[in-house]
Amino acid sequence: MEMLQIIVDGEATSEQQEYFKNHMDRCLPCFKSYDLDMAIKQLLKSKCCGGEAPTGLIEQIKSQINQNTPS
Ligand SMILES: [Zn+2]
Repeated sequence: MEMLQIIVDGEATSEQQEYFKNHMDRCLPCFKSYDLDMAIKQLLKSKCCGGEAPTGLIEQIKSQINQNTPS
Protein backbone atom coordinates (compact mmCIF):
# COMPACT_ATOMS: atom_id res chain seq x y z
CA MET A 1 0.00 0.00 0.00
CA GLU A 2 2.90 2.36 0.67
CA MET A 3 4.22 1.56 -2.75
CA LEU A 4 0.81 2.26 -4.26
CA GLN A 5 0.92 5.74 -2.79
CA ILE A 6 4.34 6.37 -4.30
CA ILE A 7 3.13 5.22 -7.70
CA VAL A 8 -0.04 7.28 -7.59
CA ASP A 9 1.90 10.35 -6.51
CA GLY A 10 4.23 9.82 -9.44
CA GLU A 11 7.26 9.56 -7.16
CA ALA A 12 8.22 6.01 -8.04
CA THR A 13 11.28 5.14 -10.02
CA SER A 14 10.70 3.48 -13.40
CA GLU A 15 11.87 0.25 -11.79
CA GLN A 16 9.20 0.50 -9.10
CA GLN A 17 6.55 1.37 -11.66
CA GLU A 18 7.51 -1.65 -13.73
CA TYR A 19 7.33 -3.92 -10.70
CA PHE A 20 3.96 -2.58 -9.64
CA LYS A 21 2.43 -2.88 -13.10
CA ASN A 22 3.50 -6.51 -13.28
CA HIS A 23 2.06 -7.09 -9.84
CA MET A 24 -1.28 -5.48 -10.73
CA ASP A 25 -1.73 -7.89 -13.62
CA ARG A 26 -2.05 -10.66 -11.08
CA CYS A 27 -3.42 -8.87 -8.03
CA LEU A 28 -6.97 -7.55 -8.25
CA PRO A 29 -7.00 -5.76 -4.85
CA CYS A 30 -3.96 -3.73 -5.85
CA PHE A 31 -5.42 -3.02 -9.27
CA LYS A 32 -8.64 -1.79 -7.70
CA SER A 33 -6.88 0.46 -5.20
CA TYR A 34 -4.72 1.88 -7.93
CA ASP A 35 -7.74 2.52 -10.13
CA LEU A 36 -9.59 4.23 -7.30
CA ASP A 37 -6.64 6.33 -6.20
CA MET A 38 -6.01 7.49 -9.72
CA ALA A 39 -9.67 8.40 -10.21
CA ILE A 40 -9.69 10.43 -7.00
CA LYS A 41 -6.40 12.06 -7.87
CA GLN A 42 -7.72 13.11 -11.28
CA LEU A 43 -10.81 14.45 -9.58
CA LEU A 44 -8.83 16.56 -7.13
CA LYS A 45 -6.62 17.76 -9.95
CA SER A 46 -9.55 18.98 -12.02
CA LYS A 47 -10.94 20.69 -8.94
CA CYS A 48 -7.63 22.51 -8.46
CA CYS A 49 -7.81 23.78 -12.01
CA GLY A 50 -11.10 25.52 -11.38
CA GLY A 51 -13.59 22.76 -12.13
CA GLU A 52 -16.31 22.00 -9.62
CA ALA A 53 -16.45 18.40 -8.44
CA PRO A 54 -20.01 17.51 -7.51
CA THR A 55 -20.46 16.25 -3.98
CA GLY A 56 -20.57 12.48 -3.85
CA LEU A 57 -18.61 11.98 -7.02
CA ILE A 58 -15.88 10.14 -5.18
CA GLU A 59 -18.49 7.84 -3.67
CA GLN A 60 -19.85 7.31 -7.17
CA ILE A 61 -16.45 6.33 -8.48
CA LYS A 62 -15.95 3.95 -5.57
CA SER A 63 -19.22 2.15 -6.17
CA GLN A 64 -18.53 1.95 -9.90
CA ILE A 65 -15.24 0.24 -9.24
CA ASN A 66 -16.89 -2.11 -6.78
CA GLN A 67 -19.57 -2.97 -9.32
CA ASN A 68 -16.94 -3.90 -11.87
CA THR A 69 -15.61 -6.59 -9.59
CA PRO A 70 -17.43 -9.91 -9.40
CA SER A 71 -17.69 -10.96 -5.78
ZN1 LIG B 1 -1.23 -6.78 -4.54
